[in-house]
Amino acid sequence: MEANLSSSKKVRIGIYGGAFNPIHIGHLFVGKESIRLFNLDKVIFVPTGNPVFRKKDLLDKYIRAHLVEIAIEDETNFEISYFEINKEGPSYYIDTLRNFIKDGVEIYTIIGEDAFLKITLWKDFKEILSNSNFIVAKRLSDNFATIKEFTNENLNGFNKKIFTLDHPLFSVSSTLIRERLKTGLPISYLVPKPVENEIVRHGYYTKRSSFG
Ligand code: ATP
Repeated sequence: MEANLSSSKKVRIGIYGGAFNPIHIGHLFVGKESIRLFNLDKVIFVPTGNPVFRKKDLLDKYIRAHLVEIAIEDETNFEISYFEINKEGPSYYIDTLRNFIKDGVEIYTIIGEDAFLKITLWKDFKEILSNSNFIVAKRLSDNFATIKEFTNENLNGFNKKIFTLDHPLFSVSSTLIRERLKTGLPISYLVPKPVENEIVRHGYYTKRSSFG
């Protein structure tokens, strides 16, 4: 019998969780670079429903998810998951990960350096690291020195599953977008055009009523 090579290849999925409050070009660029550099089949954006660690000025979860949707609509290898949005209670990543674990699937969790440095506070973080590779995207300008030290000190044994991703948009943040909106500055080119249009049209982040 001929070996069926195609069936033995694992599907490589990137899971990119976050508040996306709002989604910006840093998130999108890192998603796309992850596909290119780690040969991923797709990246799934997973907006948080009820973040465990409180976020300031958090827009309603359905609006944040809608902004993700319109940001990725032209990118065939990007998807959105409503798993955390639709789930009651706090958004624990271990629950999200378990939802995506399947035979024939290899998972790469995409995360920024700042968030990765808090991973030991996450529920069941050892189970998370046992079941996922990590792509840690640059957010600090120290050539990943902090991440390497943190990994050696706290995550010994998982080193081979943790990869770094260097990129030029590391200083773009949702905080920056929100601050610019609050002070009446434009956000053009920091978010995709449809996202900009939607935010401006509804006055998101400038009106108190927009927060969930
Ligand atoms: P805020 O400024 O509100 O804290 P944020 O810009 O960090 O938001 P999140 O939605 O909290 O965005 O981030 C989701 C994930 O994306 C996190 O892992 C975060 O570290 C990562 N991330 C955010 N912005 C960037 C960026 N410019 N480059 C790389 N990773 C990023």
